[in-house]
Amino acid sequence: MVTQPLGEFRIDRVLESEGVFAPAKVLMPQFNPAVLAQTQADAWLRPQYLTTDDALVMGFQSFVIRTGQLTILIDGCVGNNKERPQRETWHRRSSSAYLDQLTALGLSPEDIDVVMCTHLHADHVGWNTVLKDGRWVPTFPRARYLFARTEYEFWEAAHRAALAAGGPPTNHGSFADSVLPVMEAGRAELVGDGHEVCAGVRIDAAPGHTPGNSVIAVQSGGQRALLTGDVIHTPVQIAVPQWSSRFCEDAAQSADCRERLLEHTCDSGTLLLAAHFPSPTAGWVESAGGGRMRFRCVGC
Ligand SMILES: [Zn+2]
Repeated sequence: MVTQPLGEFRIDRVLESEGVFAPAKVLMPQFNPAVLAQTQADAWLRPQYLTTDDALVMGFQSFVIRTGQLTILIDGCVGNNKERPQRETWHRRSSSAYLDQLTALGLSPEDIDVVMCTHLHADHVGWNTVLKDGRWVPTFPRARYLFARTEYEFWEAAHRAALAAGGPPTNHGSFADSVLPVMEAGRAELVGDGHEVCAGVRIDAAPGHTPGNSVIAVQSGGQRALLTGDVIHTPVQIAVPQWSSRFCEDAAQSADCRERLLEHTCDSGTLLLAAHFPSPTAGWVESAGGGRMRFRCVGC
């Protein structure tokens, strides 16, 4: 994704990985290629977002918003050195590509003022922390880390319950290695719905995928962008918004949230930046006729 200017702001992407992810039906149990064909979305979805054999092409990425006053990192991908034995591609990663891209953007970890995770799944919190002398410490030493209060409290309770039951760790262990160390270092701040990070950057509740799931509304110079986290995992869900992912805590609420967000965004000129759309990532939601919607990526 090339730099997206937005009024006085600029938004960049930091890509951790991308490629063919999984069969669409694995992520969205309701996926049905015959239903999708009826929407006439195949022409714009394939093969960029959906392969001919129905596998999803996805990315894992953060976004950096530079307002001129603040440098804000949205979402933290999977991270390095995390113990994720159930996910081979997430387990003990050791790539320098993520931090190298920050460097290429002219940023060091010390330059990040604010980190916000749209939700606390393992693929959104990983770079919150790095392993230093055997301990997890905040990657961005000066940053305030913002977590939605509802989200933090939900996963903290799940973490405690899992510990008490001796069950598998919450979110692949990411609450313990990528969220709690930030809280214990005194860098975390729990925020509510509608929290203004600064003029033009607001955190809005968008529950369904998780209870405290959030989106980031950005506005500058009359231009708007919406960073949607996992409200929409893939452009396939723009063609058929009712298909929630199997990782949604409340599939029906997630579908409702997605439909409302898409209707609100459609033909509005608002730039959509989703956590898992593959390159070139940024784009707009447009009417496709017959009450349907499509995604048009920047440069497409
Ligand atoms: Zn995700």
